[in-house]
Amino acid sequence: MTTPLIQFTDSGLYCRQGRFYIDPWKRVVKAVITHAHSDHAKPGCIAYICHTHTKPLLDLRLGTDADYETLEWNEPVWINGVQVSLHPAGHIIGSSQVRLEYEGEVWVVSGDYKTENDGISGAFEPVKCDVFITESTFGLPIYNWKPQEEIFRNIQDWIMQNHREGKTSVLMAYSLGKAQRLLPCVEATGLPIFLHGAVFNVHQALVEAGHKLPAVQRVQPDMPKEIFKGNVVIAPGSADGTPWMKRFAPYSVGVCSGWMQVRGNVRRRNADAGFALSDHADWNGLLETVKATGAKKVFVTHGFQSAFSRYLNEIGIEAAEVKTEYGQEEAEENGEKREEE
Ligand SMILES: [Zn+2]
Ligand SMILES: [Zn+2]
Repeated sequence: MTTPLIQFTDSGLYCRQGRFYIDPWKRVVKAVITHAHSDHAKPGCIAYICHTHTKPLLDLRLGTDADYETLEWNEPVWINGVQVSLHPAGHIIGSSQVRLEYEGEVWVVSGDYKTENDGISGAFEPVKCDVFITESTFGLPIYNWKPQEEIFRNIQDWIMQNHREGKTSVLMAYSLGKAQRLLPCVEATGLPIFLHGAVFNVHQALVEAGHKLPAVQRVQPDMPKEIFKGNVVIAPGSADGTPWMKRFAPYSVGVCSGWMQVRGNVRRRNADAGFALSDHADWNGLLETVKATGAKKVFVTHGFQSAFSRYLNEIGIEAAEVKTEYGQEEAEENGEKREEE
């Protein structure tokens, strides 16, 4: 029996033929990284391979001690005889799917992905393969996103309504990914934008790396309260309910997350408004992607892996669920854990 190109081990997804891991959750020698979210990019490896745009984010989050090799999309390299290439995943800046080819067989690891083009993360492309390893964060039919233009209009209307009432709009958004995606939407209101320190640090790293992002100000402890009045603040969910928020009073909280599709979550989060804006594919996005890869075997990771893999089997696509340690970013967005930083 031939060894599968990727094995699911205690340390993560392992390519034995190439002697490297993809998004390992333990310290390993060589790690190919799909994207810079903390559950996919762990510190302590000796060598990392990632997309050029992911590198400054890993510098910020993991430090600069390791040995880094960067790749562009569709630029193949050979690691111990395995051809490895990265392809846009559309999830956050630099996020990539990893394609492996060895002895005529092709496997693709999706990492996290979003099929709608957000204008900053690169346009997602399904990659043909024999075996596809897909995430399933929103792998239930109830998750069915509205077009982002529509959600952005809702956010802008909400901001302007708050503005007229003299309230500050505090948008809760994940510091890496969602926060950058919101900026052009908020910028269009013409109101000043203030960022929480955690969001600002990511912003700054991206600006220094050459990304063009709208003008913002970091919330400083000595800023007079009046400066925020009627304007917009972007903060990670972990800031909600903390004393840090007091300076914005009176304010209104809007949570931006795919989980907001479910009304109960808006209530549970105590949000004034919920915007179902996600950096992950919805049910149809997952399904269409699986079909577009043409894969004859699918492994389903973090999310609703049992529901999604069961459905794939029902429609005749051989699928199995796999346990991984990914999903922390998604859980934090759902208010289950606190984003560090
Ligand atoms: Zn992610
Ligand atoms: Zn993930």
